[in-house]
Amino acid sequence: EVRVRFAPSPTGNLHVGGARTALFNYLFARSKGGKFVLRIEDTDLERSTKESEEAVLRDLSWLGLNWDEGPDVGGDYGPYRQSERNSLYKQYTEKLLKSGHVYRCFCSNEELENMKQTAELKKLPPVYTGRWAHATDEEVQEELEKGTPHTYRFRVPNEGTLKIDDLIRGEVSWGLNTLGDFVIMRSNGQPVYNFCVTVDDATMAISHVIRAEEHLPNTLRQALIYKALGFPMPHFAHVSLILAPDRSKLSKRHGATSVGQFREMGFLPKAMVNYLALLGWGDGTENEFFTLEGLVEKFSIGRVNKSGAIFDSTKLRWMNGQHLRALPSEELTKLLGEYWKSTGILTESEGLFISEAVDLLKDGIDLVTDAEKALSNLLSFPLYATLSSPDGKSVLEDKLSEVSANLLAAYDSGEFHAALEEGHAGWQKWVKNFGKSLKRKGKSLFMPLRVLLTGKLHGPDMGASVILLHKAGTCGLVTPQTG
Ligand code: GLU
Repeated sequence: EVRVRFAPSPTGNLHVGGARTALFNYLFARSKGGKFVLRIEDTDLERSTKESEEAVLRDLSWLGLNWDEGPDVGGDYGPYRQSERNSLYKQYTEKLLKSGHVYRCFCSNEELENMKQTAELKKLPPVYTGRWAHATDEEVQEELEKGTPHTYRFRVPNEGTLKIDDLIRGEVSWGLNTLGDFVIMRSNGQPVYNFCVTVDDATMAISHVIRAEEHLPNTLRQALIYKALGFPMPHFAHVSLILAPDRSKLSKRHGATSVGQFREMGFLPKAMVNYLALLGWGDGTENEFFTLEGLVEKFSIGRVNKSGAIFDSTKLRWMNGQHLRALPSEELTKLLGEYWKSTGILTESEGLFISEAVDLLKDGIDLVTDAEKALSNLLSFPLYATLSSPDGKSVLEDKLSEVSANLLAAYDSGEFHAALEEGHAGWQKWVKNFGKSLKRKGKSLFMPLRVLLTGKLHGPDMGASVILLHKAGTCGLVTPQTG
């Protein structure tokens, strides 16, 4: 059975790198009909916080990456927080002690420091050369009786190599002679990180470990512990780093890097998921637009690239626009209507005016939050207010005298209002006649008209804009402009 896990340390927000690791695990599990496990790695008690754990769970849920087992939903392999698994770590330390893979080390810090310095002087690797690797039972017993503090050290074979067949990177091997016996349990009873991960992966029956490349050095130690515990080794897949456009490690100075920040900026989870999947993966075609379900169908770990992937926030933004416009129109209207209401531009979140505004403005919007500016831009030049005020008249007359004079005439006679009441057809008929009377067409007609009617040189479809502006005055949804 395929069982994978995402194992965040709750010491901060969920970053895009972590989110992508979670996504690849999720896709692998779902595409294989396996289980996706969430495990909280909170052994670093000082840096781990409850808020961070909650934030990570919230952000994963927001992305739609639902887990089958985890601290909140439980499961057969719990508990799912390392801080609650201490008895297991003790139990497996005892087991390894009995089998001789682990020994008690009573070296003082001073002795260890000396060992390190001697190795440095002789230009030898800093491996443990202390006597406790080969102490007799009597010697050990004596120290135990004295109550000398001790760690538990893992006995590393001092020659040979260890190989894994990484699903992304191919064969990876390490020489064992430079590693040295390492501590798995500190003298205060605190288990060491690599040991916890191995015990957890083994006892949670994890079949595939998919994680960031930076954990590759840990894999060596973990694989040795795995073997010593006698559990079948999982498959490993180490995913490359996410880089900034300048190929340095992606960090805060490059802008937003956490999932929560992108959510607050108005990104859609669908677009986030799609974009994250493309960081190092593709289905082999030109297609870049995927839903989560589509990804499950197409994902294969073998297609994950082993070189670093560049995080391009401009492309993410573009992708968000694609997903926004792909939403069913009712859903998009609801989303933007609620957003406009929340910003105070509109007094209600529903109404025909809103769906027409969405139709008109959606092409110019990539993020939900872009919609605020798009609508306020349009409404900032209310047709009747401007034209009926003395100021408005002077603006029109000064700037574009010929067109504006005729437009004013059309206003005053009520002809323009009447045309707009007829909607799009009315507008088209009016604009055609208006052009004829002025002997203008194309740009020389539409540019001044656009400026006169919308206050701007560029924007969405003019007829639709004007009809919408006409409605804005009567629909009762638009918050009156004050000041
Ligand atoms: N807790 C580790 C991290 O947040 C992940 C460890 C693992 O996946 O093995 O980087």
